[in-house]
Amino acid sequence: MIQLMTCPICNKAVSAVEAARSETLPFCSRRCQQIDFFRWTDGRYAIETPLDERPEILEQLAEQEGEFDDDGD
Ligand SMILES: [Zn+2]
Repeated sequence: MIQLMTCPICNKAVSAVEAARSETLPFCSRRCQQIDFFRWTDGRYAIETPLDERPEILEQLAEQEGEFDDDGD
């Protein structure tokens, strides 16, 4: 019996065999993984996420933006 997972980005079915050797789970490909990453950094998911549960990458981006702001004189 072949189990199928579904990529959360493109809804493509990914077989368990593909998924088992994939480094991009739960995504079907590195491309979809990156799309998801860019959605995070774009803040689209942040709306649904409490501020104190933001991913570490967003904390780092926020710090970098703060540094840029301080530099504007
Ligand atoms: Zn996909």
